[in-house]
Amino acid sequence: MTALSSNLGYPRIGENREWKKALESFWAGKLEESQFLEEMEKIRLGNLQKQKDAEIDMIPVGDFTFYDQMLDAAVMFGMVPERFAYAGGKVPLNTYFAMARGNDTAVACEMTKWFNTNYHYIVPEFEGKKLTLTENKPLNAYREAKEKLNINGKPVLIGPYTFLKLSKGYENSDIPAFLLQLIPLYAQVLQELETEGVKWIQIDEPILATSITKEEMKTVAEIYKQLNQAAPALQIMLQVYFDSIEWYEEVTQLPVQGIGVDFVHGLEKTIENLKSNGFPTDKVLGAGIIDGRNIWRSDLQERWELITTLSNYVPADRIWLQPSCSLLHVPVTVAQEKALDQTIHSALAFADEKLVEVTTLTNALHNGESAIVEAIQESRNARLKLAQSPARNRAGIQYSARTISEQQTKRTLPFNERRKQQQDAFSLPLLPTTTIGSFPQTTEVRQARQKWRKGEWSAEAYEQFIQNQIKDWIVLQEQIGLDVFVHGEFERTDMVEFFGEKMGGFVFTQKAWVQSYGSRCVKPPIIYGDVEFLQPMTVKESVYAKSLTDKPVKGMLTGPVTILNWSFVRDDLSREEVTNQIALALRKEVEALEAAGIHMIQVDEPALREGLPLKKSAWDNYLNWAVKAFRLATSSVQNTTQIHTHMCYCEFHDFIDAISALDADVISIETSRSHGELVSAFTDQSYDKGIGLGVYDIHSPRIPAVEEMIDIIEQGLQVLEPIQFWINPDCGLKTRKIDETVASLKNMVAATNTIRDRYSVLQES
Ligand code: GLN
Ligand code: ZN
Repeated sequence: MTALSSNLGYPRIGENREWKKALESFWAGKLEESQFLEEMEKIRLGNLQKQKDAEIDMIPVGDFTFYDQMLDAAVMFGMVPERFAYAGGKVPLNTYFAMARGNDTAVACEMTKWFNTNYHYIVPEFEGKKLTLTENKPLNAYREAKEKLNINGKPVLIGPYTFLKLSKGYENSDIPAFLLQLIPLYAQVLQELETEGVKWIQIDEPILATSITKEEMKTVAEIYKQLNQAAPALQIMLQVYFDSIEWYEEVTQLPVQGIGVDFVHGLEKTIENLKSNGFPTDKVLGAGIIDGRNIWRSDLQERWELITTLSNYVPADRIWLQPSCSLLHVPVTVAQEKALDQTIHSALAFADEKLVEVTTLTNALHNGESAIVEAIQESRNARLKLAQSPARNRAGIQYSARTISEQQTKRTLPFNERRKQQQDAFSLPLLPTTTIGSFPQTTEVRQARQKWRKGEWSAEAYEQFIQNQIKDWIVLQEQIGLDVFVHGEFERTDMVEFFGEKMGGFVFTQKAWVQSYGSRCVKPPIIYGDVEFLQPMTVKESVYAKSLTDKPVKGMLTGPVTILNWSFVRDDLSREEVTNQIALALRKEVEALEAAGIHMIQVDEPALREGLPLKKSAWDNYLNWAVKAFRLATSSVQNTTQIHTHMCYCEFHDFIDAISALDADVISIETSRSHGELVSAFTDQSYDKGIGLGVYDIHSPRIPAVEEMIDIIEQGLQVLEPIQFWINPDCGLKTRKIDETVASLKNMVAATNTIRDRYSVLQES
């Protein structure tokens, strides 16, 4: 045996998002199926060739997909929901894409976030009908790599327990029946690989990093016993990532031949586990020593020291060095970034550069540290140079972010006392109507921005255009009859990018895209330095909107936790500290808005939920500092200034305390798709602050009827006091058309008026 370098998965999108382009052309009918397949093969083989050129020993195959790896697994097991009218056999491409995107007759499968990442997977639906193996995808991938590139690949497959836990459509009591069907199919896949002479398969079980119960762990043990018996000559690398293994002792005793462990996230716990339980002498350790979730170059000295520690527990020749998780979550290559500041550029490592780090460290395992001294020095110098740069040494900011006082995170008066003052200040009608912030971003708006960015339009021309949009929509909001207005967010493409571009400490790349869901890619900003407020960011537009109306206009900001969670964050400070820096900058913006006469300010936190750690035991700590950062950003205002917030998820139940602790005067929240659940949350627990339950779903072009919204409002009023109740759609309207938006909002106002009439009788009496 010898130490090997390994990879867990490679970004599928291509250096120039060729993957996205091929998919979208195919969907638009601009590519024939055969051309599409050809293009995809080219990208797939290109990705493999790059890993071969990088001299990775264990190259993953089968991680490539046309949409998503969970969808691939579902389709492979014939788990196509009834509504897609699948007739058996290999699942046709149009059925595959219909599951992902919906078609004229069937709604798409649900999509949700992959653990604590910003990647979304398609949720498989178990409908109880018979599962079959429609194709052996890992085997096909293995054969292709072997034939076309002479690569002895390591097939990658989502593990059965993760697959089960992430699927829906079944009750706990159905689990045995589900597994009874699923496990023989997995066994068959493994047997066919074994027959083919495949040496290793990587089975991904990230669910083992979450807080599963001991009972569940027993099921996992039974599953792997069966899989090992089915194909004893095929070696299984059981791959866990995103946090430490929950049941370390049990997992390391499973009848598999390798365990892949994340040595970046949850490291402390992992080292503790190693110290107290050791590592089995008959297994390979897949050591995920390079961060697959962030974009910074590693300090190879420090990584090498970690590897040295590991080799106290595992002989070096039984270690595979690898990234902590699939490289799907990072962009392809830094080489593409031509415009970045040199100091930042040298301190970055995307997928390709991370593979070089892996092989460099593997070289040291073979030949000793002396073989890589230059690389070590280079990595340290690059990190040191950035560490010493002025952007990372804004002493004032660092000091402020480290010395947050209780006082800074507290409003002067408690909510119930502020409430009275705010009522007097705004004299709003009962059940005030408002929106979440954005109005339709039409082609015209997007084109205007393009023209300005390309220099075809002057800044003045663009600004004038934005003002005209704001003005049009102030008029429309008057006509619709809303009570609290917004300016419409026409000047923003994206709610994080907009703020990142205006604060110090952020940098933007040209091509550092990562897949978010399907063909959709995002280019997260990079927080590389101390975050600094430079000048007011939103005051101009809000003040202009306010000048056009007597109605209150809500200022509109993105919250500190959302900005953090949707960026790549520097790795030399804690996330808490970086969030506090962002919060301090936003606090200045809040103050600037208030000083300019804006007395309602909404601070959106749609990504607060997704930053929750995988381990339940770590939730409190996260929620504590996240809530504190929000309060830091928002609590310096006067009692009469009303702070709003917005979140777009609906697990209110689990977080009602944290949400209440934000101490926002009003929260608007998405509930139109899960109204019943929400109503029950308020039956069980009390919430005293203002709350806008989204009364219609903005994700659909449908115009909701007045009666429908009356019903929803009435349901809400059964559990909430009319005095705390706000009426609004469930999210921003930027993806909707103008006509739809106006018609829906008019109906929303009509529904509100009907309810007000009913209540006015009560009020008078
Ligand atoms: N204010 C933002 C908007 O209306 C909120 C978006 C969001 O919740 N994701 O677009
Ligand atoms: Zn939203």
